[in-house]
Amino acid sequence: MDYRGRVARVQERMRAQGLDWLLVAPSADLTYLTGLEARHGDRLTALLVPATGEATALVPLLEAGTLDREALPGALLTWPDGADPIALIVDRLSNAHEVGVTESFWARDLLPLQERLPSARLTVATSALRPLRERKDEAELDLLRRAAHAADRVFERICAAGLEGHSEAEVANLLRAMIVEEGHDAVAFCIVAAGPHGTRPHHDPGERRIARGDLVVLDYGGSIDGYNSDITRTLAVGDPGPEARAVYEAVRAAQETGVRAVRPGVLTGAVDVATRTALESAGYGAYVVHRTGHGLGLELHEAPYLVAGDQTELQPGMVFSVEPGLYLQGRFGVRIEDIVAVTPDGVERLNQSDRALRIVE
Ligand code: ZN
Ligand code: ZN
Repeated sequence: MDYRGRVARVQERMRAQGLDWLLVAPSADLTYLTGLEARHGDRLTALLVPATGEATALVPLLEAGTLDREALPGALLTWPDGADPIALIVDRLSNAHEVGVTESFWARDLLPLQERLPSARLTVATSALRPLRERKDEAELDLLRRAAHAADRVFERICAAGLEGHSEAEVANLLRAMIVEEGHDAVAFCIVAAGPHGTRPHHDPGERRIARGDLVVLDYGGSIDGYNSDITRTLAVGDPGPEARAVYEAVRAAQETGVRAVRPGVLTGAVDVATRTALESAGYGAYVVHRTGHGLGLELHEAPYLVAGDQTELQPGMVFSVEPGLYLQGRFGVRIEDIVAVTPDGVERLNQSDRALRIVE
């Protein structure tokens, strides 16, 4: 990953926005700019980026040994236990007027910083970083594509495994193993929701046994080098009956409509309207409970969000889910989700798994 290039592009945006400094706390923003996967802890870690000149990674001394210094896009400043890391930041920023901070900055650090930099105005600098993170470069697209294809292979395997008689939790364990076996470094999450549990979009897999006639919502993902997959398919175990088939078909058609709406220049909100309108005109508007999708990258949910009213213009390199669903309380739910990438002239589905209703044993 070209961390120096990313920092240089952030600095360009900072200058355009009149920011003197940008302070990046542990978060996907920090990973994006440095490769560091630091966690928030009792010791402060931050990247200090001036509008021009070299960035500095401020890191607790005891973590310094685990850093890849070659990859760091700037200088390394370590601080030992007993030192005051806020003072190190204040030293560098004493002449600053406009300081941007990432959303992830903790109040523990931000409030004393604000007090000790009385002439600086501190603002959340989402707009300096978000447009960069939204448009994935080739290396990022490659990882997201690999993760999506691995998730597709997991789906084929779980279909072949047979679900009837297994509990949701057992199926989730199978999925977790397959997610890693198919090439992810780690499991991100795993939802298995059978029958009426399918009406809870974030259902925690439990002891319910999957029975003949159930619809089962599978929604899972893992990560490769930090980049995530996220796929949902809804399966039928045996014949689910005519109503479930009709609801499934409405979601499938709405998902297709949403994906077809994706191309550069379209607004995110318009894609949400397209899927929602398809569900409403099929007569199921009352069963819609969530937005159409979310961006995906280093985070499972990140900008852009495909939600009514959102005015983000789609641009090549943006990657997000298109995942309409219908939830008939007390009965069953259906959701179909693919990750897609905006291309210069349209859309690429990163997930290739068939979307026709799959009837399994
Ligand atoms: Zn999902
Ligand atoms: Zn999703």
